[in-house]
Amino acid sequence: MKTKRFKFKRSKRISIQNQLDLIYHSVSDLIFLMKVVDENHIRCVSVNQAYLDLTGLKEEQLIGKTIWEIFSYPVAAYAHSKYQEVLRAGTKLKYQEEVDLIEGKMVVETRLQPIFDDHGVITHLLGVSQDITDQKKLEEDLRHSHERLQRLLKTAHIGTALMDIEGGRILEADPILQEIFGYSAEELRNQPFSKITYPDDTIPNLLLYQELIEGKRDYYQMEKRYIRKDGRVIWGNLTVTMLHRNPLSIMAMVQDITGRKEMESRLRDSEENYRLIAENMSDFITVFDTNERVLYASPSHQTHLGLDLNKYVGAYAYPYIHPEDVGRVRHTFYQSVENRSPLVIEFRWKHGAGHWVPLEARGELVMNPHGEVQQMVIISRDMTERKAAEKKLKEANEVLKNLSQRDGLTGISNRRYFDEMLQSEGKRASQNSYPLSLILMDIDCFKSYNDTYGHQGGDDCLRKVAEIVENELKRPGDFVARYGGEEFAIILPWTDREGAMHVAERIRSHVESLKIPHIGSEVKSYVTVSIGVATMIPSIFSDVSKLVEWADRALYTAKNNGRNQVSVYQR
Ligand code: GH3
Ligand code: MG
Ligand code: MG
Repeated sequence: MKTKRFKFKRSKRISIQNQLDLIYHSVSDLIFLMKVVDENHIRCVSVNQAYLDLTGLKEEQLIGKTIWEIFSYPVAAYAHSKYQEVLRAGTKLKYQEEVDLIEGKMVVETRLQPIFDDHGVITHLLGVSQDITDQKKLEEDLRHSHERLQRLLKTAHIGTALMDIEGGRILEADPILQEIFGYSAEELRNQPFSKITYPDDTIPNLLLYQELIEGKRDYYQMEKRYIRKDGRVIWGNLTVTMLHRNPLSIMAMVQDITGRKEMESRLRDSEENYRLIAENMSDFITVFDTNERVLYASPSHQTHLGLDLNKYVGAYAYPYIHPEDVGRVRHTFYQSVENRSPLVIEFRWKHGAGHWVPLEARGELVMNPHGEVQQMVIISRDMTERKAAEKKLKEANEVLKNLSQRDGLTGISNRRYFDEMLQSEGKRASQNSYPLSLILMDIDCFKSYNDTYGHQGGDDCLRKVAEIVENELKRPGDFVARYGGEEFAIILPWTDREGAMHVAERIRSHVESLKIPHIGSEVKSYVTVSIGVATMIPSIFSDVSKLVEWADRALYTAKNNGRNQVSVYQR
């Protein structure tokens, strides 16, 4: 804000009119003077420069006009009611209103004051409106973001005092100033301004004051602290203006800005809190520029990863990333920058102590107002514990899965797992068009084995037979399951009929050769088995469960033909 410079040196004392003009036209408040003819005829007689500048109205649109001629209906009606109030009460009034301007709306706070003639009749109304649009907007924003802060905002409140040159003493303080400082007019009279100034702010204020007195400036403005009568330190926005030089007289205007200052300091505090959180959390925050250089790294890098922050900031992260992961990480980084998309990646990080730490990183891009990528903010997390937990879970699942797939008695796969395997092997065989064979094996006369050797003996025998079958299966893809009581099923992928018959015969003869005593058998005096074999080359239309049916039929044939033999299903 630049004030018109007055040529004090031309005359010893500038005229009263000029003094008024100086104040009138240099303040940013909107000032208007209305002449009261009678209560229904109130006409504008003067407005200051700020009024014209801010409303965009011309003097000819204002001077001599009533408010009805100046403003639209609702605004005029509102102002009219306020004028009437002042006329009736004869005291000053403060109100807020919203004024329509060429460039949008403006919210003002108006102080309307009656001016009396010698007979006590109100001749004029003097209005001083302060633009509080920004403040209103700030209040609005704050209400949204932070209800509590709103209370801190007080309506701007300007107090004035006439000052004497000598020692900067207060000659006359107005009621608002009294209210701001908590002293009465008498208590303030003849007191130096330094009495209510916070000690640290005295010198800078005095320097400016000196310049004013020496004529180096017409006015000065500063934000400074004061001490109220109750001892509370408050912030004020002080404007000091030279009124006249002989006798030297100075006007000081003080606006209490403690609320704003408190709000600023709260914002600072919340930033401080944010920093504290950032420094104490175990996540790793890193800010990279687009050249992959580290702009910022949170202290957790030092505390949790044993990294020397001084070396890290300004450098690259890649030397710390596992050689096997670094290519993938760089690729992902570039892709994210190119596609403007967030980044999620896992990699291993070399701890200062030498071991590898699994990290999961999530990155977000920071754009400048032109939409260009400026920075990448990456938040990483130590996954060691989670990885360990995942491993444990995987192991536990493995055990569970094993249990659900195992037969409790023999320890080989159970029927449920067999069904799954048959389906998946069927699918694989159909995809590759190779033959799939199935062997169904049943112990001969097992009922009587139980009758002779007891159930326990029967179980032992089942375990033995299972072991024999398992040992006879040579290929890694071969699969045996306990299909039912004393029945076993064997899946032989990539095996044709001849191959399957060969395997079946080997098993049969191996069981026989062991000569496990079975005196109750109708076949031999030892345990024997009967086997049915079936083969198919599955296609996507095949039903592999047919294999079970076919093998079962072949088994039936083997039993019928005297047991202890292999039979093949023939279509
Ligand atoms: P075949 O030669 O015709 O097969 O005569 P089999 O006596 O073996 O005939 P069947 O299939 O009717 O009898 C199966 C018997 O196997 C019935 C049951 O006593 C016995 N068994 C089934 N499961 C178990 C088991 O888990 N443990 C024991 N010990 N015996 C079982
Ligand atoms: Mg049976
Ligand atoms: Mg049997």
